[in-house]
Amino acid sequence: MSDGIALRLDVDRIRCDGYGMCAELLPELVELDDWGYPIVRAGDVPADLLAHARRAVEACPVLALRLAHGLAPRRAAPAPGQRAVAPAANASGPAAVASKA
Ligand code: SF4
Repeated sequence: MSDGIALRLDVDRIRCDGYGMCAELLPELVELDDWGYPIVRAGDVPADLLAHARRAVEACPVLALRLAHGLAPRRAAPAPGQRAVAPAANASGPAAVASKA
């Protein structure tokens, strides 16, 4: 039963040992890469797959799989030597003022 809250499936890639049980239990959302590590489909878990997703989470032998609330934006890590740039909170900074002039 869905509680109306969006859930997504997350894998802790450090903890995951690539047993592949999650892909066997939830092939609709998880496939394995060439090394046997899971690739999880992006987005919310459809309501009709939530029970299967919970079972896959419970079956993970190293607790690497979890259901998390909401859709957190996934940002790419900055390349070596680059600083992460925070998104602009609004368009009223000096650049915005200069572009309006
Ligand atoms: S069941 Fe757990 S350890 Fe196995 S591949 Fe999935 S996330 Fe990794």
